[in-house]
Amino acid sequence: MTRHTGPIRHNPGVLDENDQGAPAYSRRVRTQRQLVDYALQRRALLRDVYAGRVGTLEVCDASPYLVRAAKYFGERTETPCPVCRRENVWYVHYIYGDELKHTAGQARPRVELPVLAMTYREFDVYVVEVCRACDWNHLAQKYTLGRDGLPTAERRRADG
Ligand SMILES: [Zn+2]
Repeated sequence: MTRHTGPIRHNPGVLDENDQGAPAYSRRVRTQRQLVDYALQRRALLRDVYAGRVGTLEVCDASPYLVRAAKYFGERTETPCPVCRRENVWYVHYIYGDELKHTAGQARPRVELPVLAMTYREFDVYVVEVCRACDWNHLAQKYTLGRDGLPTAERRRADG
């Protein structure tokens, strides 16, 4: 495994692709837990794309909804699109959970997540990477947020 030796990019919330260690969410929400990172799957898929085993049409199939969500709620990363390299990719955060009722499945700006994390006990966040130029998209991360992740004493206070 090669280690990252170049200058480190300081963009909060964006993973350094070469970093094998902990997620680089430097301003991550405190209650974040159960993080699943899909960087390995992404790399494997891209290897297949570069080798011609998987066509770009198959991986550049973002729905118009996802592309629009990136435009209105997404967070621009410092990572160039691995397929077209014309634009940087965007992260779109989707929230899921029973408590969310009708808002489940919605894309939300990342700045709203800390507030939601104190409003609800538990919900899942799916972070989808999308390129607005070529429609490349891939699940980047999944994690859980919500008050249930607070230390017990604080949780008692938050629950009232
Ligand atoms: Zn692209």
